[in-house]
Amino acid sequence: MSTTLPASIDLLIVGAGSAGAALAGIVARDTDLNVVLLEAGPDYGPSSGGGWPADLLDALRFPETHDWGYSGLNRPGHRFHSPYDRARVIGGCSSHNGCVEVIGHRRDYDGWAELGNAGWGWDDLEPAWERAKRALRVRIPDDDELTPFHGAFMEGAVAAGIPRVHDLDDPDDVSATGISPVNIIDGVRWNTAFAYLDPVRESGNLTIIANALVDRVELDQGRAVAVNARIDGGWRRIAAGRIVLAAGAYGSPAILQRSGIGAPDELRAAGVEPRHELPGVGRALTDHPLTSIELRATDKLARQMELFSRDRWTPDEQTILKTQSPRCTEAFDLHLYGILRRDLAAESGWRYSIPSSTVAVQSAGHVRVTSADPDAPLAIDHGYFTDAEDNDRAVLVDGLELAREIAGNLERAGLVRGELRPGPEARTRGQLEAFAEETVRINYHPACSCRMGPSHDPDAVVDASGKIHGLDGLYVCDVSISPTLMRANTNLPAITIAEHLAAQFA
Ligand SMILES: Cc1cc2nc3c(=O)[nH]c(=O)nc-3n(C[C@H](O)[C@H](O)[C@H](O)COP(=O)(O)OP(=O)(O)OC[C@H]3O[C@@H](n4cnc5c(N)ncnc54)[C@H](O)[C@@H]3O)c2cc1C
Repeated sequence: MSTTLPASIDLLIVGAGSAGAALAGIVARDTDLNVVLLEAGPDYGPSSGGGWPADLLDALRFPETHDWGYSGLNRPGHRFHSPYDRARVIGGCSSHNGCVEVIGHRRDYDGWAELGNAGWGWDDLEPAWERAKRALRVRIPDDDELTPFHGAFMEGAVAAGIPRVHDLDDPDDVSATGISPVNIIDGVRWNTAFAYLDPVRESGNLTIIANALVDRVELDQGRAVAVNARIDGGWRRIAAGRIVLAAGAYGSPAILQRSGIGAPDELRAAGVEPRHELPGVGRALTDHPLTSIELRATDKLARQMELFSRDRWTPDEQTILKTQSPRCTEAFDLHLYGILRRDLAAESGWRYSIPSSTVAVQSAGHVRVTSADPDAPLAIDHGYFTDAEDNDRAVLVDGLELAREIAGNLERAGLVRGELRPGPEARTRGQLEAFAEETVRINYHPACSCRMGPSHDPDAVVDASGKIHGLDGLYVCDVSISPTLMRANTNLPAITIAEHLAAQFA
């Protein structure tokens, strides 16, 4: 790891996460520009160096280390205070996530283009998606890698009328279940540091500075000229030709706001002097709301699981179902997953659940700095169930009903005996709505907090090149620029965004 900066920096990238590491790696590989990558967390070096902590490598575990410590109430007035995990380490969330790699539906991206973002339709993005999948070594596990529970989940889904497919990530499918494509190589989570930075670590034109917390961007006459960063406890001003924020859906808008870029009243309330009015910064924060039914297994399923897990790799999450609720008007609007967790306190030694998530989300919230201090907590509200038509909650309840139908099929197959949560007493739709209201939680897919859009869109933060409206030399390149939240887990989309934008920095 270096703390020596090159004499002149062409491109400074803030945040070495899914998108930032990909962008830095591509530009360093394809150009002779001097690229500097600043990351708030540690850098453990190349995958072959032996320096990586076991919990970050192990794709079976959700690490509890290297987290930013964000949290919030799932809704105003809600009693459920939830941690909003975000990784603070090289590779960002790709270094601690669930390794499911999907892209959503072509309508997601065609919709972006229709909102005025030229060059962002599915046909434009497809080559970037293909490159991202190759770099991440995405593969579809074989049927014999499926745990008995995940196999049964898919059979139960087929019996409920959902077709089983081999490649779940077909951007034209509207209803399908299949094995999740993953970026897991011999049990190792193949993060973007391995995929994109390892090949260029010795290239000579990439400098990675870890443990570097960026406070804000310095503006001079409408141009971004430098960042202020705390590196190893000391503050430094780092000047660069162009600056790209890739600090994620919470981090990128927070840096913009601390730099005085945002809604003036919100900035003043946080003690920050407004420098450039851009009201969309931090607004439109969107996640996929999620809740689960929990099942009671029979001895038959417990025995099958014990036998399987004795000598086999047993992941929690292996299958996805995407489909249309009765309210769906295009593509699909629901994801269901089969999830198991080892839990020796549970009756059968495992916990089984079928989470459901609304993926064509209409509600939105916000992320705001609460102070000019970069160490102060952020105010984060995903705005679950705030859409005027109450569509997001209704779709989630449709998902719970489908999950129950699948559970019923598992019960008929002798694998499940009843529901632990919400339980048989929750019979009516109204009771399921109340359950969704009470238990909704983060699906770890926050996005849209620096939305891309044309200059006439008052809430747009960046244009179709990722450049901040009204300022020169300042860009955002991460999942926060999504104009709407894609119907997909967000890692592969974040990397696809970086692959797509990288060419313009060459
Ligand atoms: C627990 C969990 C499980 C998940 N599972 C999946 C999954 O299975 N499949 C999937 O597709 N998606 C999953 N996701 C979501 C997905 O990983 C993220 O949406 C994606 O990684 C976001 O990429 P990004 O580049 O926008 O941001 P990030 O990957 O979060 O990168 C941001 C980087 O910027 C750094 N940073 C932030 N602020 C600063 C600052 N001020 N100064 C310097 N550096 C800074 C951060 O430390 C981080 O490294 C999961 C997320 C979590 C948290």
